[in-house]
Amino acid sequence: MKVVLIGVGQAGGKIAQALAQFDYDRGFEAVQGAFAVNTARADLQNLDIDTMLIGQDRVKGHGVGGDNELGAEIMQAEATEVMDELDGRVTSQADAVFVVAGLGGGTGSGGAPMLARELKRVYTMPVYGLAVLPGRDEGAIYQANAGRSLKTFTREADSVLVIDNDAWKTSDESIEEGFAAINDRIAERVGLLLAAGEIVEGVGESVVDSSEIINTLKNGGIASLGYASALADEDAGENINAITATARKALLTGTSLPQAVEADKALLVIAGHPDRIARKGVERARKWLEEETGSLEVRGGDFPLSSERIAALVLLGGVERSQRVQEFMDRAREASKQQDEPQESAEDAFQNDELDDLM
Ligand code: GDP
Repeated sequence: MKVVLIGVGQAGGKIAQALAQFDYDRGFEAVQGAFAVNTARADLQNLDIDTMLIGQDRVKGHGVGGDNELGAEIMQAEATEVMDELDGRVTSQADAVFVVAGLGGGTGSGGAPMLARELKRVYTMPVYGLAVLPGRDEGAIYQANAGRSLKTFTREADSVLVIDNDAWKTSDESIEEGFAAINDRIAERVGLLLAAGEIVEGVGESVVDSSEIINTLKNGGIASLGYASALADEDAGENINAITATARKALLTGTSLPQAVEADKALLVIAGHPDRIARKGVERARKWLEEETGSLEVRGGDFPLSSERIAALVLLGGVERSQRVQEFMDRAREASKQQDEPQESAEDAFQNDELDDLM
């Protein structure tokens, strides 16, 4: 699937860049362009992709702190300039645009949903969100920001692929090392999903079409991505169990949104050397996925790659009713209450903001 990535805020820019780099290093050519927008000059200076500083008159290049309302206001006020800058970057070859952001902060949290709305007004291709939720250890303001932003982002974008910052980290990393490692994992996993819908050179076939990703995300709402890999035997016949076990791991322990298993739609991609992919294993894994997710629409396909490993990618569409999302929204609502205790109207605003629609 050919995409254009637009990172908003610090995390958004870093993740857009990491994804573009992964795609470039592997020669997939799924990422057609990557661009970063931010209110903080210093964050943009660390990036190699093209960038745009917004809100200079309001915050003088210093960022909005954790103020996501200010982030949203600035994006709204400068929407025309941002869209002008994107004109020509969002090419007609692109199958979709991804707006990438961490939802716990200010610029991405407030700005990404606003930008998605603008993009949808102008372009006919799907506009997806790639959104990072704050980890459990991050403070109340991050949780509250992310709760509101997720709700708005889900309404404005065609679908939001959510990554919980606690999901793909390993325990022995510091926060900074942790972010870099998580970004690499996001880049690899989302990068493989996007590349799966592309023709791979030397193989001459594309068994997963970009329309299958688009159809999996068609009903909107929240999406998640699961990933796992394992060494594969040279003989496909020996890999039936390896494939089913890898698919199970992708859904149950390798997912970007833990404990979100029930889904409207799903796509199972088995990546690996064509000689090592056991058809029977793929069929069983798909059947298992149908039962586990309760979805009547499970798509599947191979992604031919020259590798000794086999990987499973599980894209779920419509997971907003899952336990995990509900728990997060409860946490965000609770955080918002605490944060806004002195000004009772803010909590009402949060409630009235149709937060419950998500569930
Ligand atoms: P913004 O620049 O105001 O949009 O805010 P940031 O992007 O700095 O932070 C927003 C949220 O994104 C934080 O609460 C973290 O959860 C997360 N975050 C920040 N940097 C990174 C990063 O490099 N990788 C990941 N995965 N998450 C990040």
